[in-house]
Amino acid sequence: MVTEAHDPDASLAAYAARQAGSRGRMHAEAPHPYRGEFQRDRDRIIHCTAFRRLIYKTQVFVNHEGDLYRTRLTHSLEVAQIARTVARELQLNEQLVEAICLAHDLGHTPFGHAGQDALNRCMRNYGGFEHNLQSLRVVDELEDRYAAFRGLNLCFETREGILKHCSRRNARRLGALGERFINGGQPGLEAQLANLADAIAYNNHDVDDGLRAGLITVDELCSVDLFRLEYEQICRDGRISPRATINETVRAMINRIVSDLLETTRANLHAAAPANIDAVRANPEPLVQFSPDTYAQHMALKKFLRESLYRHERVLAMTQRADKVVAGLFETYFNDPAVMPDEHAGRARRWSAEQGEAGQARAVADYVAGMTDRYALSAYKRLVDAAIDF
Ligand code: MG
Repeated sequence: MVTEAHDPDASLAAYAARQAGSRGRMHAEAPHPYRGEFQRDRDRIIHCTAFRRLIYKTQVFVNHEGDLYRTRLTHSLEVAQIARTVARELQLNEQLVEAICLAHDLGHTPFGHAGQDALNRCMRNYGGFEHNLQSLRVVDELEDRYAAFRGLNLCFETREGILKHCSRRNARRLGALGERFINGGQPGLEAQLANLADAIAYNNHDVDDGLRAGLITVDELCSVDLFRLEYEQICRDGRISPRATINETVRAMINRIVSDLLETTRANLHAAAPANIDAVRANPEPLVQFSPDTYAQHMALKKFLRESLYRHERVLAMTQRADKVVAGLFETYFNDPAVMPDEHAGRARRWSAEQGEAGQARAVADYVAGMTDRYALSAYKRLVDAAIDF
């Protein structure tokens, strides 16, 4: 019996993801006496192994380059912070949005996008590798913690939020969860919000990390409106240290873009007046959006970062080394799966008996994708090339 004090839907808007209307878990479970279902999802994610590994996985910089750069863990926490702020204001489901944000990068390979591209190339004849789908695979299948089921047995709405993109080919294998990638339609508002909070977080923290690393300069950044407007204002406001000036600028940028997101989304919700989450899903466009002006500014910053930071020669050099490590490990394990730890070697044997080479390749991809940057590097040094200069 849900008492009012424990009713997790009590403060939510009609269009929020409500526990009472949830599409539920794959394996039915008894309710917890005082934790709601989305809170349980959040708690399961925090306690899972893949979550702890995020601390040693890179966004842009390799973990050992410095202690002050973002890792996937701190990135995920920043995404959750931004999304929860907006969720609370819009009376969306804060527990759900937090669960989605904390889980959204669980499937990332070591070494950021370089690792994912390398693994996708290694898997090209075996169904490919998509980090988003891998995040879902982690929570649906790979985590091994419960007696009654594989994975974390998360609610549909949490899984819906984790699966941000998906190819049509893979969507066809996912049943109800894949439908929107085939027939069109939106996920719930919490998923839409987590998606944009992710974009806000990485744009802004990459400015901070890029400056800190000396790969981009304030002068270059002043070619981007979003940065220049806030930076000039902060400089006018008074004499503070260069470090505090950058921090205040990034802070003001996040505040500006989050406030715009909030106001634009509030207006969209007012105009569309969705009666419930199914009306949100049926809407032709996402309702969580930036205004056109802010969207243009956000995209201009993203373009700047792509050209100046992600394609900086130092980042590209790291990308090439990461590519070599991931591809080298894949090849080594694929040629001799017994080199992997028992759990993974056993999977490779079973899946290869069931599905042939593709099954063996998938077991190897799961193992390599789960590695942290430093684990991958030490395995590469041990098995492939002890002399690699990373
Ligand atoms: Mg992310």
